[in-house]
Amino acid sequence: MEDIEVRWKQLRLLEEEEVVLEIPFGEKEDVKKKGDLSLIGKVCSDRSVGKDIISNAMAKIWRISKRAIFQEVDKNVFVLTFATHADKQRILDGRPWLFDNVLFPLRPYDGLLLPGQIKFESEIFWVQLHDLPLGLMTRECGERIGGSVGKVIAVDVADDGIGWGRFLRVKIEISLYKPVARGRFINHKGDKLWISFQYEKLPKICFRCGCIAHIQTGCSMDATGRQDSYISDVMQFGAWLRVDGGLRRRVSPLSSDTSFVGKEGESHKKDAAREGSVGSSEHGGQRKEMEVV
Ligand SMILES: [Zn+2]
Repeated sequence: MEDIEVRWKQLRLLEEEEVVLEIPFGEKEDVKKKGDLSLIGKVCSDRSVGKDIISNAMAKIWRISKRAIFQEVDKNVFVLTFATHADKQRILDGRPWLFDNVLFPLRPYDGLLLPGQIKFESEIFWVQLHDLPLGLMTRECGERIGGSVGKVIAVDVADDGIGWGRFLRVKIEISLYKPVARGRFINHKGDKLWISFQYEKLPKICFRCGCIAHIQTGCSMDATGRQDSYISDVMQFGAWLRVDGGLRRRVSPLSSDTSFVGKEGESHKKDAAREGSVGSSEHGGQRKEMEVV
């Protein structure tokens, strides 16, 4: 895109090229209507993913009434048009979505966007807050801690605002270009406590710098999180940030392990759109938790 701009600035335009064409009619009503039913999504992968591959994979994962129509507008960037507003909302509510273990972030359609300049800055994740005292498993506490990470969308608590369980779940809009937060210290009545975070449906991330938007290739950080100097050390980020296997174990009818039944299971039911969204096994992902339902 920059190349084109540079080239354009160097051009000596002919008289007829200087003429500005009036476009008085703006965006047509049927374009707006279609836009209202649409979202824009990006497969965050270096590898090119074709329209049919992503469209077929997401149709299997989403299982909505009528499959969304995908149009490629840039490398790995697609406009997705749904049959109904309810389908579109269900897919928005079920975020994040993964394709082959990489993130498939979604953003609203906007008729002013230029293909090639569409930015995907953030996505919504359920974050589990571990090692929190029972007395602090509340909406207020979830909003306070979650708010230090990103914009809090919801806290998974009962009507009374209390969310007792193995951990507190907070739905947060998270930047894709900042290291994934591993936890927060809180000061609780003079005690300094480390609250550790785990992410549900966390895609592949860069284990060096902790960013979601790229994997190790092309990262400017060394393993210690410092730039330039190469020092082999413990990776600062890892698969331990990911809630591992939780979905698979919860839904297995043969499993006698009930440790995942309960709060997590209830919210799983509430949020049916999230089911099966962890990836598509046919694409050979490393994670096994895609065998849902
Ligand atoms: Zn990195």
